[in-house]
Amino acid sequence: MIRVGQGFDLHRLESGDGITLGGLWIPCEYRLVAHSDGDVVLHALMDAMLGALALGDIGQLFPDTDPTYRGADSAELMRVVRARCLDKGFTPYNLDLTILAERPKIAPVRDAMRQCVADLMSMPLDRVSVKATTTERLGFIGRGEAIAVMANCLMHSHEG
Ligand code: MG
Repeated sequence: MIRVGQGFDLHRLESGDGITLGGLWIPCEYRLVAHSDGDVVLHALMDAMLGALALGDIGQLFPDTDPTYRGADSAELMRVVRARCLDKGFTPYNLDLTILAERPKIAPVRDAMRQCVADLMSMPLDRVSVKATTTERLGFIGRGEAIAVMANCLMHSHEG
């Protein structure tokens, strides 16, 4: 059995000392404004996984009104989501992530991020895709005011 899900997330950028994307710390002059650590890559991915199994979204699972999740490590939240999926008998088979960002530049950190996501998900590297695009300096992403991520995830059942 296979199930497919998609996820989307966006966070605002402001001046800071670094951002976490796909669990990878990237030192830069920005930070992502969020209730949690603002890891848009993992947020979009968690929504794709939950979507595949019709388990709602991360807003339902980890409400931003709950102080428990203030500054939450998204890698920890991912562990919870993976466990939920495992309970339903499904694990991710492959992931495809598209990062929409004008800054910071993704190309120099892309391979490290891919490895980081693969490790976090206990998945082989060749089933984890990280792509990136700018928006041609157009709109709020193009002005470097935000980073958005689109995620697709194929889940497969481990029975049969
Ligand atoms: Mg988010």
